[in-house]
Amino acid sequence: MPVVLHKFDPAQQQQNQASPGYLIAKVLALHCADQYDLNQTFGVGSGIAAWSCWAAVAITPNAVHQALLHLQVNIPGAPANFNPLAFSSAFGNSQMGTVNRTVNVPGFDGGAHAERAAIRAAAAANSAQYQIPGNPHHYVLFVQLEPCQHCHGWLTGPTRARVANPWLNRMGPHGQWTFHVWYRWFYGANGFETAQMALWNASQRHQRVIDIVQNW
Ligand SMILES: [Zn+2]
Repeated sequence: MPVVLHKFDPAQQQQNQASPGYLIAKVLALHCADQYDLNQTFGVGSGIAAWSCWAAVAITPNAVHQALLHLQVNIPGAPANFNPLAFSSAFGNSQMGTVNRTVNVPGFDGGAHAERAAIRAAAAANSAQYQIPGNPHHYVLFVQLEPCQHCHGWLTGPTRARVANPWLNRMGPHGQWTFHVWYRWFYGANGFETAQMALWNASQRHQRVIDIVQNW
């Protein structure tokens, strides 16, 4: 199974904790929440905007994408300190096309799908995906909304998309790698959960952080 979807459903938290990439995805979600607030402070360009779907992909730290720090929140199982983590992140959002007009994001050439934007920005910086420790060829992506049908196909293999998934040949032999995609809200259908996401994005930073830590 190249792509495995995991929903941050509060009712499933206990089972989710045992699933691959849970803590990594949770840290990525927390950093998305902070990245949004940084954006509000320092202006566009840091990869997250309001009224958009946020995404982050775990990558091996390098000069461009330096190691993330532990945020000062109490995540069960993770130390509450500011020491560097073993992984970094590239961010993306569904309004990156708008952001890109103001601040050029290398390797990004349009599109409105948060998960693709994050992956293409990371690949353009020549960043490698971060493998879950002890799980070779298992990778982690966080995206607020469940990937749409096209993005699911794009993540999984070659498609007719204008820009192919640049990591397909780097993740390991096809059929032997697994992409753990963690999301919080369902996409499409009646749009109810998309509206929930927009409301959540507009809430205060501390409310978002506490929600992620306690309920996701
Ligand atoms: Zn999509």
